[in-house]
Amino acid sequence: MKRKRRIKKKFIIFSIIGLIIILGIIILVMFLFNKKDFKVTLSDDLDIEINSLVKVSSLIDEIDNGKLVDDIDIDTSKLGEKDISIKIDVDGKKEDYKFKVNIVDTIAPELTFNEEVYTTVGDDIDLLSNVEVTDNSKEDIDVTLDGDYDINTVGEYNLFYIAKDSSGNETKKEFTLVVEDNVERTSKGFVIENRDGVTYIDGLLVVNKTYSLPSWYGDGLTSETQSAFNEMEADAKALGLNIYISSGYRSYSTQDTIYNNYVKVDGQKEADTYSARAGHSEHQTGLAFDLNSIDDSFTYTDEGKWVNANCYKYGFIIRYPKGKDDITGYMHESWHLRYVGEELASKLYNNGDWITLEEYFGITSEY
Ligand SMILES: [Zn+2]
Repeated sequence: MKRKRRIKKKFIIFSIIGLIIILGIIILVMFLFNKKDFKVTLSDDLDIEINSLVKVSSLIDEIDNGKLVDDIDIDTSKLGEKDISIKIDVDGKKEDYKFKVNIVDTIAPELTFNEEVYTTVGDDIDLLSNVEVTDNSKEDIDVTLDGDYDINTVGEYNLFYIAKDSSGNETKKEFTLVVEDNVERTSKGFVIENRDGVTYIDGLLVVNKTYSLPSWYGDGLTSETQSAFNEMEADAKALGLNIYISSGYRSYSTQDTIYNNYVKVDGQKEADTYSARAGHSEHQTGLAFDLNSIDDSFTYTDEGKWVNANCYKYGFIIRYPKGKDDITGYMHESWHLRYVGEELASKLYNNGDWITLEEYFGITSEY
């Protein structure tokens, strides 16, 4: 009986302990099931461009049962994998959360340069001084040159600048190196030569307000000018027209006297519209002359009309045509002819709508 009671007592104690354990497990399981668990869903793309401004929130698609505590800026200054630690607020409790991002460089360097670089033949040039490189990686990047050119040969060379960053992003840009001859040219590309103070443009002697002659230059009409005039005069005569040279070659000192007399009478500003300063007169070239009456009345005579329409056939041009005062620097002079040769004279005649030397060559006439 006694033994039976003892067994019963043990059974009760074990049952109670077992019940406590089972209850404990139930409470624990209930607690675990009841506990809120947070879940972070990260963005699909965790590659971040180097040196870009990225907030951690932009890498998180969703947080279940919690919210981000600090929306920190990610340090994107170094390439490679990077650990990110953030805190998630779960019902007032701050939980740690870690993940990895990859700092990458997928952007190629940018090049700033002149698309056309000019140099003169034989004058070597540091082509790399013309280019600047910038890159998101902020690393020092060397620019290299690709292509061949010969600094001693006039021409246009297509070359390339190449810049490559440490991630292998490459930029290749074309530019043109223009190697020019070292001669001076007008705005229309005609070669300007200065020989002993005398200016030749495309081989033609040019005198105007911009280009002058030295005081020693000239000694009368050139033989070409004289014989072209003789031919023109003879043809005019056959038509019953009388043309004659009333003022031909004028020396530097003669022009100096003439001009200064005009200045005394009309003042310099006015004198400059019809008379050339010494050294700037075409009369000193021996290639120009004035016909008949040296005034506007000549325009309306039969001789004046015939000369205007025919002088180009003999190699002459009306040097100061009507309406071109601002271009030639002189008022219209129907009587002033300049020898330029038949080929150029025909072009400048332009069916009676005279083109000036200034327009044709692309030069100025200004003191
Ligand atoms: Zn004249």
